[in-house]
Amino acid sequence: MVTTINNQGVQFIMHRANELKEVQLEISSNCQAGCMECSRWKMLDGKQIPNPNVKFGAAGNMSIDLIKETFDRKILPVFEFIALDGNYGDSLIHPQSLEIIEHLLLTFGDRKNPALKTNVPVHIEINSNGGYHNKDYWYELGKLFAKHRELNGDRESSVCFGIDGTDNETHDKYRRNVVYDKVIEHAEQFIKGGGRAEWKYLEFDHNVHQTDEARKIAKEMGFKKFFVKRSRWVDAALREIVEQKQTGDSSGTTIQGAKLGKKAGATYSRIPKAKKDFVKKVEQQVSKYKDYFNEVPISCYWRNQKRIQIEYDGAVWQCCHFPPVYSVDMRPDNQRGKWELEKAKEYDYYRATYGNDWNNLNKHNLVNILEHPYFDSIERSWSHTTKDKIEPRLSRCVEKCAITTKALTKDKRERL
Ligand code: SF4
Ligand code: SF4
Repeated sequence: MVTTINNQGVQFIMHRANELKEVQLEISSNCQAGCMECSRWKMLDGKQIPNPNVKFGAAGNMSIDLIKETFDRKILPVFEFIALDGNYGDSLIHPQSLEIIEHLLLTFGDRKNPALKTNVPVHIEINSNGGYHNKDYWYELGKLFAKHRELNGDRESSVCFGIDGTDNETHDKYRRNVVYDKVIEHAEQFIKGGGRAEWKYLEFDHNVHQTDEARKIAKEMGFKKFFVKRSRWVDAALREIVEQKQTGDSSGTTIQGAKLGKKAGATYSRIPKAKKDFVKKVEQQVSKYKDYFNEVPISCYWRNQKRIQIEYDGAVWQCCHFPPVYSVDMRPDNQRGKWELEKAKEYDYYRATYGNDWNNLNKHNLVNILEHPYFDSIERSWSHTTKDKIEPRLSRCVEKCAITTKALTKDKRERL
């Protein structure tokens, strides 16, 4: 990173592609599942509809040429980590996903590439619901990971399967249209092919009784790590502590899912009752400030890690938390909670100043995008308030990266 002084004498830091280390990459917006809280869905008039701001189907798959052009050692010489994950889709559903992974692990990840300037092998973590494709696909994927380990010495790359229960019925309650038995079969094949698997468990009131059993199954099957994902609880706790008090609106504390095809809708508490002590821990931190959202210092995890987000459509962002909120929500105001409506206004300044396609890899190259003033504008916003007219602080940055809740947002992965 390069430190620069702007014309008001404020010091700021620019991203540079040749210093970039990490990317979260979403190669497809497509997915077979109907998880209630996923940004691929919007609730409108009590029905779950596909997010109107997102392109699906063939238009939702990133072109393999774009991926090959971007993930080139000449552009990214010190690059080390790719998280294949995102906001709208399950990346491996991309019809050319095996070819893409092969490029990322064995061509871009080739340790003999003369443009390489780091000793750390490329490490990929793929998040997946694991319920699509067939057993052969998952076996072949495992073989690619094994080959990367053998040729390039990477011992960490893995697929992290999101499995929220230990039977079809429980797993399908939140992660609708994903069959538990199939996921287990696919994970088995991936491990057999030589892949390294981890198990991520989203805990709710309806599955908290199966967490220990899931951990036991993970160990027996040869998963390397198991964790209950709690990073998502921080915003839920903040909404309970601040939002409910300020606006009387409690909609952000629950996940409200509408009917989807034959699947029933349901409302789930975002933090299981058994984990309410988590809310107390967040409350202790919040109580240190009079006006928490405007006063708490922010430390941008992604910026510190030299990490960015690339969406399925080629858009480049500082992190994965902005794309679903940066676009204007098409739903009428009466379909959204008070808090949500108020927070959406914070993006008006950025939309009006920068528009929508300054960051698209289909129009600009990565080197130029990363030097765009937007990134430094966001950085300066952390020393402003949410009410400022110019470069307002974004509540999202507080929810995700306030220094007070940093430790609480880290998922504790247990080695099995
Ligand atoms: S599996 Fe992932 S991408 Fe698919 S609906 Fe669920 S959260 Fe969204
Ligand atoms: S939410 Fe804001 S502070 Fe956090 S990673 Fe994203 S840009 Fe950085």
